[in-house]
Amino acid sequence: MRRSLFPILTLPLLMACGGHDDTTGTDMPDSTATTEFQWEAEQFGDIRVLRYQVPGWDQLSLQQKQLSYYLNMAGLAGRDIMWDQNYRHNLVIRRALEKIIKEYKGTRSGVDWDEFMLYAKSVFFSNGIHHHYSNDKHTPTFSQGYFEGLLKESGATLSPEVLTAMFDPSVDAKKVSLDADKDVVLASAVNFYSDDINEKEVEAFYARMEKKDDPRPLSYGINSKLVRGADGQLMEQVYKVGGMYGAALEESVKWLEKAVGVAENPQQKAALELLIQYYRTGDLKTWDDFNVAWVKDTTNTVDYILGFVEVYNDPLGKRGSYEACVEVNDPIASKNMHVIMENAQWFEDNSPLLPQHKKEKVVGITYRFINTAGEAGDAAPSTPIGVNLPNADWIRKDHGSKSVSLGNISDAYDKSSGTSTLELFCHDQEEIDRAKAHASLAGILHTALHEVVGHASGKIEPGIAGPDVTLKSYASTLEEGRADLVALYYVLDPKLVELGVMPNLEVGKSEYDGYIRNGLLVQLRRLKEGKNIEEAHMRNRQWVSAWAYEKGKADSVIVKVVRDGNTYYDIRDYEKLRVLFGDLLREVQRIKSQGDYEAGKALVENYGVKVDPAIHREVLKRAEAIKTAPYAGFIQPEMVPVMDADGKITDVKLEYPMDFVKQMLMYGEKHSFLPDVN
Ligand code: ZN
Repeated sequence: MRRSLFPILTLPLLMACGGHDDTTGTDMPDSTATTEFQWEAEQFGDIRVLRYQVPGWDQLSLQQKQLSYYLNMAGLAGRDIMWDQNYRHNLVIRRALEKIIKEYKGTRSGVDWDEFMLYAKSVFFSNGIHHHYSNDKHTPTFSQGYFEGLLKESGATLSPEVLTAMFDPSVDAKKVSLDADKDVVLASAVNFYSDDINEKEVEAFYARMEKKDDPRPLSYGINSKLVRGADGQLMEQVYKVGGMYGAALEESVKWLEKAVGVAENPQQKAALELLIQYYRTGDLKTWDDFNVAWVKDTTNTVDYILGFVEVYNDPLGKRGSYEACVEVNDPIASKNMHVIMENAQWFEDNSPLLPQHKKEKVVGITYRFINTAGEAGDAAPSTPIGVNLPNADWIRKDHGSKSVSLGNISDAYDKSSGTSTLELFCHDQEEIDRAKAHASLAGILHTALHEVVGHASGKIEPGIAGPDVTLKSYASTLEEGRADLVALYYVLDPKLVELGVMPNLEVGKSEYDGYIRNGLLVQLRRLKEGKNIEEAHMRNRQWVSAWAYEKGKADSVIVKVVRDGNTYYDIRDYEKLRVLFGDLLREVQRIKSQGDYEAGKALVENYGVKVDPAIHREVLKRAEAIKTAPYAGFIQPEMVPVMDADGKITDVKLEYPMDFVKQMLMYGEKHSFLPDVN
């Protein structure tokens, strides 16, 4: 499970450099020496391309640097997989775009060329022809005739079917559709199911596999595509060496084997060996064994996320997107946030959940601040800022989970921020001042509470299947909302002041201001006019905010104010809002614990999906004043091994490239292992 930037978008982004206050007890990566670093490389369309640094890299031992390098190479080896998972024509389209950019000899200027380059960059950024966040297909703003000319002049070809996929807006218009009125499998272009397979068939297929009351259910469907076999029966094409995506996984295994040789400890070595075995066999039990081993490896400095992990790209929440992230622990920052981890049981005991839904014993949450040193697949160029894994509920319950905040990513967001949205959307000066003083820390605490306490809390009633089975397409947004509610409930708790992680309750209030402001107003700027909300996190931010607004109306907990034609939401009673968040948390936990699909659906559909068109229009208009593009992602640092005469690695240097397209082309040349069609 991951936390993206957006819950805190417009908050910490506004903090001045070095806005992290030492007196709060939160020590963030020291960046005073890096003021010269250029954080933003470029903007195009609705995208900002940023850069990040890896503090602490030079302090790593040679062995740790080698380990990072091998893990990063293993991760990059699978980059093509994410492209193919996103859409079946993505790889062949990307290769045509790469070829044109490299080979085209005609005029490389003018409106058409500029529009072509905008399209190409947008496709690179989203690992395919659908927007990484809205899931809408990118619309080329140049003619098909012009594009066919580019192809011809560059010696590239695309079939008529692929050209139609690019240029006909009605074909495969949505990567992931969560539209309740549609068959979400048929309506989604994502390449997890053959075109002729519908939602009911998928559910029937997995209902036969999933055993009721299984205390350790396998992650069915996590590493395969579901297709119709020659006999008309559905069957899984498993991602493994020798199977689907075999060429990329084989390359990945090659690097993982080198990583095994420089593992930091026996536990890490064992986990890496299991990952290799899993890539080779595709066996789901091995995937679980790997995750258990990985969770237990808590003493390393270099850690990683690798495999088919997050399930947001599957409308039914079963199939994992390929992801890679290399992590370097930040010991100082981790230590200061440790206190939340140590008090996980207190948070569970004191939560507003029904007694039967509380965990008697919260096990082993490991929380760390890390700096990422390299990301690929689902984690790049757009990246999460917090991740909590593994996803399997039973492993989390029996063995615990690892939760990370990506400190250097948050830092890069902070430092690259442009024009303030605070003046535009805050109700009053007090709210602006509070955000400036506390929003950065509030964002950090929200992430920590969401990941460490939130996802780890609560339990499912005996005999009830997991949420992917019971809550289906609503599982992701309900889980993210539940974790947000845990964070919101505790971020205004005096216990956090007592624990020394925040100086006073103003921090919590600023989180409430920001959450409501974002959930009801600011996030709408990311939605095109006339659209409803589809993305799971955006949905949950709205259903949490809109539900609290409505339930608190009678007591004027949150008051809607219209001034000069602009809408604002002003929180008048923070304590009562906290009670409302607690009430909603108890209900959402009940929905998860009892698998109450109808109640979950009603909550999301009634509060999280539809937007008020008038307010939406107004927000888009107000947001025109913001010069900063609403989405951001990163150019990755490049790890360059230094070798001696015998080819032995003596050091690994980090370089920070500036040119986004150049990196994309380099990846296409050096880290591409899949054929055009899988
Ligand atoms: Zn989450």
